Amino acid sequence: MIDKFGRNITYLRLSVTELCNLRCRYCMPADGVCKKSHTEMLTEDEMIDVVKAAASLGITKVRITGGEPLVKKNIVSICERTANVDGIEEVCLTTNAVLLPQYAKPLRDAGVNRLNISLDTLNPEKYAYITRTGVLEDAMQGIQAALDAGFEKVKINAVLIGGFNEDEISSLAELTMQYPIDVRFIEMMPMYDSGDFDETGLVPCAKVLEVLPELQIVNASDGVAELYRLPNALGNVGLIRPISAHFCGTCNRIRVTADGKLKPCLHASTEYALKGLSFDDMKTVMAEAIYHKPQWHGELDTIHRSRAGRNMNEIGG
Ligand code: SAM
Ligand code: SF4
Repeated sequence: MIDKFGRNITYLRLSVTELCNLRCRYCMPADGVCKKSHTEMLTEDEMIDVVKAAASLGITKVRITGGEPLVKKNIVSICERTANVDGIEEVCLTTNAVLLPQYAKPLRDAGVNRLNISLDTLNPEKYAYITRTGVLEDAMQGIQAALDAGFEKVKINAVLIGGFNEDEISSLAELTMQYPIDVRFIEMMPMYDSGDFDETGLVPCAKVLEVLPELQIVNASDGVAELYRLPNALGNVGLIRPISAHFCGTCNRIRVTADGKLKPCLHASTEYALKGLSFDDMKTVMAEAIYHKPQWHGELDTIHRSRAGRNMNEIGG
């Protein structure tokens, strides 16, 4: 479906839970989330209705996200049913990888086409610091499990954080020399009340090009990422710049939160409630939300923080 600014909306990010087995500092508060009551959250059937309604309006790609989608007990069934919805051509999932040794194969068998894995550092102490509770080795085993299960085009997403992992740009990019994976650097977005980072934490992706002048431009499309490649690498290095070069003009996505709110823009407070609606009403509300998708997300910096009104684990990234 085309919105009022002429953008073709084809991509749904569906968050299946706000809960997570990690506590990344830029994403959620240290004490986790105030667990909402079960009745406030979308059921599996409602999630599938959301996907069906979205597909009937022209959505062809769904990304399952969270919180951490793999802490959801029925995640394999959600993925399988999503992949079987008429009109859905691609199902992707974003994960911190910790539970992938258990889930990589079942997810692939369920029809998940691609995995994105979040990993901000290769240093065990720094990993424990940034995730507050995580063990680097668990994530590394998860990445290996994804490759072993036969997933192609695995993407590692690293949030670029000044004073934390700027010194690891080379070593993270080097992963593309060892493995057939893409490594994408993402500018950190200042969310609602998460993140004890000041402006020094917000590093533009231009820093990656400064550190790695040997990167060569790749003329291929990867959604919001600009693609580069190290000489003789097996995968690409991507730059995602929501702050220094927002991509709102070509944004093709909508988001649905685990509590059933459709967010036409990640950083806007506008939400459309879907839970409890009949299928036809869901479609009508969705069409209205898509048509009125905001033109852009407005200024984003440490003064103009996101207007999303939620932390990232409550939206899905
Ligand atoms: N738990 C899964 C994971 O970490 O991949 C999926 C949910 S997580 C909210 C989705 C993505 O959002 C991750 O790649 C994470 O790094 C990113 N993210 C979270 N907070 C962010 C922030 N403040 N700025 C930029 N990216 C952020
Ligand atoms: Fe959890 Fe993902 Fe947020 Fe980290 S980025 S706290 S893994 S939801």
